[in-house]
Amino acid sequence: MRDLARLPKAHLHLHFTGSMRPSTLAELAAAHGMRLPHALQHGDPLRAPSDERGWFRFQRLYDAARACVRSEADMRRLVAEAAEDDAAEGSGRLEIQVDPTSYAPFVGGLTPALEIVLDEARSASRRTGVEVGVVVAASRTRHPLDARTLARLAVRYAGDGPGEVVGFGLSNDERRGDTPDFAPAFRIAAQAGLALVPHGGELLGPDHVREVVDHLHPDRLGHGVRTAEDPRVLGDLVRRGVAFEVCPASNVSLGVYAEHGHVPLRTLAEAGATVALGADDPLLFRSRLVAQYETARTVHGFDDAALAELARGSVRASRASEGTRRRMLAGIDAWLAERPPVGG
Ligand SMILES: [Zn+2]
Repeated sequence: MRDLARLPKAHLHLHFTGSMRPSTLAELAAAHGMRLPHALQHGDPLRAPSDERGWFRFQRLYDAARACVRSEADMRRLVAEAAEDDAAEGSGRLEIQVDPTSYAPFVGGLTPALEIVLDEARSASRRTGVEVGVVVAASRTRHPLDARTLARLAVRYAGDGPGEVVGFGLSNDERRGDTPDFAPAFRIAAQAGLALVPHGGELLGPDHVREVVDHLHPDRLGHGVRTAEDPRVLGDLVRRGVAFEVCPASNVSLGVYAEHGHVPLRTLAEAGATVALGADDPLLFRSRLVAQYETARTVHGFDDAALAELARGSVRASRASEGTRRRMLAGIDAWLAERPPVGG
């Protein structure tokens, strides 16, 4: 079997705090004198039901982790380590998602919070060889005017290169907030040419996917897996060229599916959808990028040609420059052309 860590790929769904290494979280907590909830101290992946209580548990842990990131140095460390970990997993392009709001108070405001992330993304790209672009994400739990503020901030740094803002997202509990209220923020981002990458079709089904598509016009859907429940909606998204950022470990951890075999990866791929596998929040789900490809191989029976096609999807759905895409796609072809090790 070919080594999945050597398969070139783009990582398009990874959250800033959620990318943190468990060891880093422990060190930051100790340094700041913060007590971590038990579930963040031991090594098991989160398993929560897909209801509001389950999400609350996830959010509470997420908030506890985020509260340990309290300085410019902490923020830089997270970006640097996310890039290092991606490099070790064969990622050539990381589009990391951050809502700068929570870190703003520690570094003097939203603008410096975002600039720190962008500056470190630039240096980390140079050091690791992984191009790190940034997705600015607004939260469904905040006022839509906050989303507009973030969109305006994001467009000031728009670009497709390392250390630039490549996209605009909308995260947090999909059941919260009214989707149409966020349309003005997405219009601001669209006018600057940012990729539009809201979460959708994770906790809610095809009806909500429709709403997200009609009002926010996504280029990629964060998750989008539940689109598979309605072949017509799925077919429509495929025709429109909307890509799916599928995060299997996250879906199982958050109870969207009871087990890995239920994640509709095959349904999406067979419908012709562009799929980019992502780790979402490895800190809580204890599963990084390569593990998502391993699941596709071992649980869903994807052969190496199909795994290469997933990797190609991730590259095509990224905002990487033409040159970077060409280089990565050639790398994927080379991976597939290699003879697998004997006995593998
Ligand atoms: Zn996410």
